[in-house]
Amino acid sequence: TSTPALDERLLERLRGALRGDIVRPGEPDYDEARRVYNALHDKHPAIVVRAVDAGDVIATVDFARDQGLPLAVRGGSHSVPGYGTCDDGVVLDLGRMRGVRVDPGGRTAWVGGGATWADVDHATHAFGLATTGGMVSTTGVGGLTTGGGMGYLARRCGLACDNLVAVDLVTADGSFLTCTEEHDADLLWAVRGGGGNFGVVTSFAYRLHPVADVLGGPTFYPLDGEVIRRYRELVAEGDERLGAVLVVGLGPPVPFLPEHWHGRPLCGVITCWTGPEAQDDEVRARVAGLGPVLGRHVARMPYPLINTLFDALVPPGLFHYWKGAFLKGLPDGAVDAFVEHGATTPSLQSVTIGFPLDGACHRVGPQDTAFSYRDADFSIALSATLTTREDCEAQKGWVRAFHGALEPHSLEGAYVNFQDSDDEHRVPVNYRGNHARLTELKRRHDPGNLFRLNHNIAP
Ligand code: FAD
Repeated sequence: TSTPALDERLLERLRGALRGDIVRPGEPDYDEARRVYNALHDKHPAIVVRAVDAGDVIATVDFARDQGLPLAVRGGSHSVPGYGTCDDGVVLDLGRMRGVRVDPGGRTAWVGGGATWADVDHATHAFGLATTGGMVSTTGVGGLTTGGGMGYLARRCGLACDNLVAVDLVTADGSFLTCTEEHDADLLWAVRGGGGNFGVVTSFAYRLHPVADVLGGPTFYPLDGEVIRRYRELVAEGDERLGAVLVVGLGPPVPFLPEHWHGRPLCGVITCWTGPEAQDDEVRARVAGLGPVLGRHVARMPYPLINTLFDALVPPGLFHYWKGAFLKGLPDGAVDAFVEHGATTPSLQSVTIGFPLDGACHRVGPQDTAFSYRDADFSIALSATLTTREDCEAQKGWVRAFHGALEPHSLEGAYVNFQDSDDEHRVPVNYRGNHARLTELKRRHDPGNLFRLNHNIAP
């Protein structure tokens, strides 16, 4: 389908309505403004609007809709399928809307739609509070929360979307709605897992929890099924205060890992203990007991720090291809797949991650939020992350074979935020019993499918 040409008069009107700015091809900032985190997506939008407030967002949504142009909404820019950009359309970049207002008494924070987890962690930590965010601090709250949101605190505090108590939402017709449990509750329900399908969130309100310092960091072991089975037992003990994320990949070049393990396949557990400091030694020993420890760096640290430990490993500009899976328990067949395919992990940045989703995640019903997989015990992310496009294309087969080996042991759907664009046809199974209600809401609030650059719920 061809894209309509820009109507210069409408564009001038948009410019007049904005406090933020517009960047067009040929302008000095254009290459910077069009770039997204995953370098695989090298697109050329007609305009990039760098919005600063809800008014800018409304004006941009109205413009894209009236012009019939594709609209890409960008928060932290980490979308692996590159949904934060498009060719010949409008990019609505929320990256300047990152203010955080904490209400320590009410234990909530209002967060700008373009904030990153670094912004949230910093602001809430000042009050000894935190909420579930991602493992990398440069990831945006926008895409992560609207897709579900997994992280170290999920077992104790639930998914990011479970902590979402309200949103300010700009819908396809340009309406501005504050959605809470009392008003427009169906839209709050939908953005708690339904992705960017229902509008642009200009502000997210999160419930906060008393989490200040944690015992955190990685412990590495040889890549051995026995270690992963002992990890399974550790998680099955069910202590929700223990964030324990499984990683399989190549040994990173860090000082606490002996050099001959750098670049060799291994597995690891990233600890995030939010219980009392008096139990630190016990927890450290329990984690070290999973197998022969090759190296570890597990220390008391401020909670925001643990979300930055891997930032440097995955800077913007790398080439990513991902897939996801949900597991019930951690079946032996899946453990075997981790060992077999983990051994051929293609690069230092490529990593397989297992997020435990028990505890607070299981206390939410499958229909309580759009995110329905409340019976999943683990959410797995498989990533091929390379430094060139050619290498990334060549390693897609590695991800697919790995995913294929997990499939017989997996639930049918997967977490949308760990899927790539070639998984778009799986949207109905990703939402299972909630898909019909989501489709109904999509028909009501976005019948023209203005918000379609996402894991799309077709109206
Ligand atoms: P963007 O590319 O900016 O946005 C992606 C899409 O989300 C947009 O196209 C839009 O549809 C929607 N969106 C974004 N902001 C808004 C908004 N304000 N209102 C409405 N819709 C919006 N996921 C986890 O759950 N846990 C993790 O620990 C985790 N770690 C990751 C680490 C890395 C390095 C990467 C690349 C990804 C990680 N992810 C993780 C996946 C992550 O959740 C998704 O990539 C997510 O889309 C990122 O959100 P973003 O705002 O940065 O992305």
